[in-house]
Amino acid sequence: MLEQLTTLLNEHQDAFHSQVPRYRQNRYVQIVVLRETKSHAIFTTEGQTLDVERLQAGLLSRKQIDRVVMYKRKQIAPERRTGKALMRDLGTLGTLQVSSGKKAAKATKAIQPSECQIMGGSCGICPDCILYGFAATTGNGSQRARVLTDSGFVVRDLRQVMRHIKLNAIQDTIAGGIAGSAFAGRENVLPQVFMPTVETLLDVTLPEFLYVLGNILKTTRYGAESNREGFVRNHILGIYWSDVELFSNLELTQRYYDALAAEQDIPDYLDLQHFLGHWPAIESATLGQVTGRTRKMDNLAELLEGVRNLYQDENVLRSLLQELARQSKQYVETVKGKDKEADSDSSEEDAEE
Ligand SMILES: [Zn+2]
Repeated sequence: MLEQLTTLLNEHQDAFHSQVPRYRQNRYVQIVVLRETKSHAIFTTEGQTLDVERLQAGLLSRKQIDRVVMYKRKQIAPERRTGKALMRDLGTLGTLQVSSGKKAAKATKAIQPSECQIMGGSCGICPDCILYGFAATTGNGSQRARVLTDSGFVVRDLRQVMRHIKLNAIQDTIAGGIAGSAFAGRENVLPQVFMPTVETLLDVTLPEFLYVLGNILKTTRYGAESNREGFVRNHILGIYWSDVELFSNLELTQRYYDALAAEQDIPDYLDLQHFLGHWPAIESATLGQVTGRTRKMDNLAELLEGVRNLYQDENVLRSLLQELARQSKQYVETVKGKDKEADSDSSEEDAEE
């Protein structure tokens, strides 16, 4: 089954590396992901209000609107957790250990890949660390992320996509004899709200690409309180190979705004078909402005079908994850291990948000 998928991707073979490269070669894979809320969701960093930015509505429409923001960490962290849970579940992290005499790591109580944490306590060896990057907190140096993302923006104005939901908390105390004036409430993003985003993979191998794509397709919970709400469905609009970055999240959102508002004001009701319908025009307008070499995945539906089959077959999946682990390990041992001085280059890994 993996061969079928590999055959499909064979014509794009030169877009992938056979092993994790030492130097940047700007082989980009861009996955355009339309995120759709399927329940109420709370994209806040803290407190009761949504994260909002005032921005130009479209590329053509210069009106200002307030847009709900989904910060990049809010997009990526749940997907990383999906992937790590899978690797843990299929036991491909347990066997991962670097042998090439890492004295420093040993001295500082090296974190085992099975114990690796996204925030602090990174092992520095597992595919998650090597692909999504990690900061210099342990004795393992640091690693730049090769999955690049930005904040995502909702297409419509805040007022069209938000509801303030009061929490039905019963007031236990009555201060000064006046019944509870402190009504707790929270701003929620409504269901069926859309956010076009792109995830850019830089200089990845084929197993790394399939791993990131699987994480995107399998992750369904985002935002605060994601155990109770925040169901998000990720629709893949397109996959592109290039030597430059083709899409930006804000531009995608603004192009969608222009397309949807072309006739009159942007409608209050939007569904997936509106977004799918406008995509070919937005895609070709964007690609038409690119300076660089670009290729598109023509058989997208077939590819996604292949990926679904792959993730249903435990044996094939395990061998993919083993290969992924082998590549990370090889990279750590043969490239990173010999390249320690370069690690002093401080990490740009996501400490923000
Ligand atoms: Zn790790």
